[in-house]
Amino acid sequence: MPLFDLRNANARYNGAAVLNNITLSITEGERVALVGQSGAGKSTLLRMLYEQRAEEAALLPQELGLVRVLSVFHNIYMGRLNRHSAWYNFINLVRPMSREVENVREVATRLGLEEKLFEPAGELSGGQQQRTAVGRAINQGSDILIGDEPVSAVDEHQSRVVLESINERHKTVLIAMHDISLAIAYTDRIIGLRNGAIVLDQPTAGMVPSDLDDLYRH
Ligand code: ADP
Repeated sequence: MPLFDLRNANARYNGAAVLNNITLSITEGERVALVGQSGAGKSTLLRMLYEQRAEEAALLPQELGLVRVLSVFHNIYMGRLNRHSAWYNFINLVRPMSREVENVREVATRLGLEEKLFEPAGELSGGQQQRTAVGRAINQGSDILIGDEPVSAVDEHQSRVVLESINERHKTVLIAMHDISLAIAYTDRIIGLRNGAIVLDQPTAGMVPSDLDDLYRH
């Protein structure tokens, strides 16, 4: 049974077609990269897939959705809000418990954020904010992660750390990415979109970045 399944799916914004006739299925354990030019429909397709598994999947949206006045600790902790009572969460908002701090510190350290743990998310650099949002998604502990350009604001070394962390913590991964070499290195299937249609769907094994040149040709 596939985890995600679309049959001839379409999407429109204000009457304009954005996704055309998408047929796609993804099974548990696959790591899939969505690639293609800006505007090709990657975000729209990720949302459509997320809606099929909204209860189980962790979503990492492009706009991050951090609470800027709260610390990195609090933002990452939020990934698990629904596992605890409101009272337990309230205590951790006011005076974080050491066991929660240690749990979050482990995630933050892996992402290179240990020194920022108690700084407000809004005062971090773009790359640090992005890693905080990755930490929050990872901390949800879901089997499935859906990420919209999760490494667009971090350098290559950090991108590798982030993608490794995501792969370690999640069984099934769907991410939109613009860096083709990273997509090939950290996923096992690439889906290429062009003008709202799937024009390529291949395993990454043996693929080289130039195999995808056609996707980006004007
Ligand atoms: P990508 O993620 O590949 O950049 P998107 O899925 O964001 O592509 O966008 C696909 C198309 O849909 C683009 O032409 C974009 O302008 C349009 N679009 C996306 N979101 C909206 C929206 N909220 N309202 C109107 N048009 C939108």
